Amino acid sequence: MNTEKRLWFVFFNDQLLVEKRDGELTIPYQDTPPTPIPEWTHIHELSLFDGEMFNAYSLSAPIPEDEHFAMIGLRASFDVLLHSQYLKAGKAQELIYWDKNSRFCPACGMPMNWHTSISKRCIGCGKEIWPTVATAIIVLITRGDEVLMVHARNFKGDYYGLVAGFVETGETLEECVEREVMEETGLRIRNIRYFASQPWPYPCGLMVGFTAEYESGEIKLQDSELSAGDFFTKDNLPNIPGKMSLARRLIDHWRNEE
Ligand SMILES: [Zn+2]
Repeated sequence: MNTEKRLWFVFFNDQLLVEKRDGELTIPYQDTPPTPIPEWTHIHELSLFDGEMFNAYSLSAPIPEDEHFAMIGLRASFDVLLHSQYLKAGKAQELIYWDKNSRFCPACGMPMNWHTSISKRCIGCGKEIWPTVATAIIVLITRGDEVLMVHARNFKGDYYGLVAGFVETGETLEECVEREVMEETGLRIRNIRYFASQPWPYPCGLMVGFTAEYESGEIKLQDSELSAGDFFTKDNLPNIPGKMSLARRLIDHWRNEE
């Protein structure tokens, strides 16, 4: 075990342990684990693009709130943690989720052992596996000074978002954008342009954002996925998604354009 101070991301399901310090919530930063460690627990040693090493593990029961600690949902942590800590928490949660869902070899059924900090190897046949990333596209479609917004049946709330969907085997991201827009709305689009991407650790997604322009067609909603959808101008927008989403970044970018 390392002896330098590190951030510790401790989860019970999607609940993340946070420390109360100087009236704020933060991630424990110390040289030893902030809780007793269950015997079966694997302590992940991870890093992100900034290179800072951090640790993560999961608990078999939540930590009761006291004057030092509390547990909050990963989504809620977006609003209270430093953004760099939220991103690390997301990676930690994705690895813990994958660990729980990759106990046995998909080829031969024998147990999988950790091989590197982000891969496992089968003790039977030697097969190596890495965490699954479910890639999805999301697209902001403009028509003149209007934007297409939709309400998906799986949205928790009355807000409208953007057309989105999972990439299928064998297609490019741009083909996925065209296909999803056609399937969900019946519209043809043009000028598909990359905007930005974002890890979406709920539980293991990568959102890839695009912009596009309406080309032709009448809106015909895919009834199984969407309950509403229309073009809106900036001054009559419906409720829009929260700030943690790539949808909101796309909408804000469009709203701030001249
Ligand atoms: Zn195997």
